[in-house]
Amino acid sequence: MELKSGVYLLEGIKGANCYLIADKEGAYLIDTGMPGNADRIIQEIRSIGHKPEEIRDILLTHPDIDHAGSAAALQFITKAKIAIHENDAPSLTGEREGKKVKGFLGLIFRLMLNNIKFESLRPDLILKDGETVGPFKVVHVPGHTQGSICFYDAAKSVLLVGDALRTDKKGLPCLSPDIMNDNSLLAKESLQKLAGLDFQIMLPGHGKPILENAAKKVALL
Ligand SMILES: [Zn+2]
Repeated sequence: MELKSGVYLLEGIKGANCYLIADKEGAYLIDTGMPGNADRIIQEIRSIGHKPEEIRDILLTHPDIDHAGSAAALQFITKAKIAIHENDAPSLTGEREGKKVKGFLGLIFRLMLNNIKFESLRPDLILKDGETVGPFKVVHVPGHTQGSICFYDAAKSVLLVGDALRTDKKGLPCLSPDIMNDNSLLAKESLQKLAGLDFQIMLPGHGKPILENAAKKVALL
C-alpha cells in the first residue's frame, strides 16, 4: 500500500509492520516481521513495482523477533546490508539473550514462540545516534530496547518509530505496553529526542500509520 510517493506499507507481513522507502537512489526496507516472512516481503516488493535488488539496506528499529525475525533470510536473498544500533547488535548476533516480555503474558509468548527459531545474524552496519544512513537520520530512543532507533526522513517528512511508539485504537500515538519494554521510564524520556523533529507521517511497528500532523500528536504525549 503506497502511503505517499515512495513510502509503502508492505501488506500481509506477520508480526510487525514492514515498510519500504524507495526513490531513485535506491530502496530501504524497515523491519522484517517474524521468521518465515522473507518470501512474502519479496513478493510484496515486486507487487508494488520494485525489485528486491534495489534494496540497499535493511534497517532494523530493534532486534525483537517480530521485527528482525526474517532479517537473516532477507540478508541472504537480497545481499542488502543489515543495519542496527550498536546497543542492540549483540541481541542480533546471539551474544546477548533477547529481551523477555514480562509477567504472565511473557510466559504465553514464550510458549507460543517455542517452535519458532530466531536465526541470529551478523549486522553489516552498526548505527549510532545522529548518524545518517541513506536518506535517514538515526535517532536513538532507548527504552523499548537498549538500542531502539527511529529513522527520520526529513525530505519525505516521515518518522519510522519501530516500537518506541505505536498507535492506539483511535489512531493516536502511544508508548508500547510496560511489559513489552526493557525500561518504560526511559522510553518515555526518549520521546524528548523527537521534539525537535518536523514530520507529518509516523510509521509504527504496530498499529496504523499516522498520515497527518504526526509530530504534533507525538508532542502531546
Ligand atoms: Zn514489535
